[in-house]
Amino acid sequence: FQKRLIHVEKFQLISEMAASISHEIRNPLTATKGFLQLLEGDDICPEKRKIYIQFALEGIAQADEVITNYLTFAKPTIEEIEELHIQQELHKTINLITPLANMSNVSIQFASIDEELYIDGEKQKLNQCFLNLLKNCIEAMPTGGALKIHVGKKLNDAYITIADNGVGMTDEQVRQLGAPFYSTKEKGTGLGMMVVFSILKAMSARLNIASKKNEGTTFTLVFPLKDV
Ligand code: ADP
Ligand code: MG
Repeated sequence: FQKRLIHVEKFQLISEMAASISHEIRNPLTATKGFLQLLEGDDICPEKRKIYIQFALEGIAQADEVITNYLTFAKPTIEEIEELHIQQELHKTINLITPLANMSNVSIQFASIDEELYIDGEKQKLNQCFLNLLKNCIEAMPTGGALKIHVGKKLNDAYITIADNGVGMTDEQVRQLGAPFYSTKEKGTGLGMMVVFSILKAMSARLNIASKKNEGTTFTLVFPLKDV
């Protein structure tokens, strides 16, 4: 019975989310539509054309982010377990996010112990988790800063710290992290952290968050290492 109850609650949450999500997707798509309609005009100067195209693409990217995050949340179980090389996967995500960091004047610093660390999990989900965290850190430094990523090991756990020196959060804001649609950003989805928590849980990992308003935030991820 207990199990059933949890199932029903989860189903309700998901259907409530589906309703809000169609709204979250429609907004950016409406913006895209508007800019595409503007592009139909005959006498648009090249500069304006460029800007309209950029805004139209941004709308699509935002809708895409909502869908990806929602799908990851709706299906959080790790199904195809594979051996993942932590440093290698982090490098992949860093490469992916570097253009965004450059645009925001954020320098990315990566440091790791020499030992290669392996965990069990699903590649795509681990990358989604890293991506959501790194993106938040970059967005927390709108006028630039440093994003420091470190990989270490203690006993049988891998420790990944991801630190920014951005806007930071109050204790109350830290407590809100992971609640669906909690966002302080004008164009935020408020789904990123929820997905991070659900992926980490499925991978039996822990997350520690230390943050101070106007100083920055440090996320520490602790993954059980694969037995060797
Ligand atoms: P979104 O980024 O779309 O707003 P998230 O779930 O990714 O949604 O994050 C929720 C909120 O948590 C953000 O709007 C922001 O207020 C806060 N937050 C997350 N990461 C950081 C960070 N590194 N520094 C400051 N605030 C953060
Ligand atoms: Mg986010």
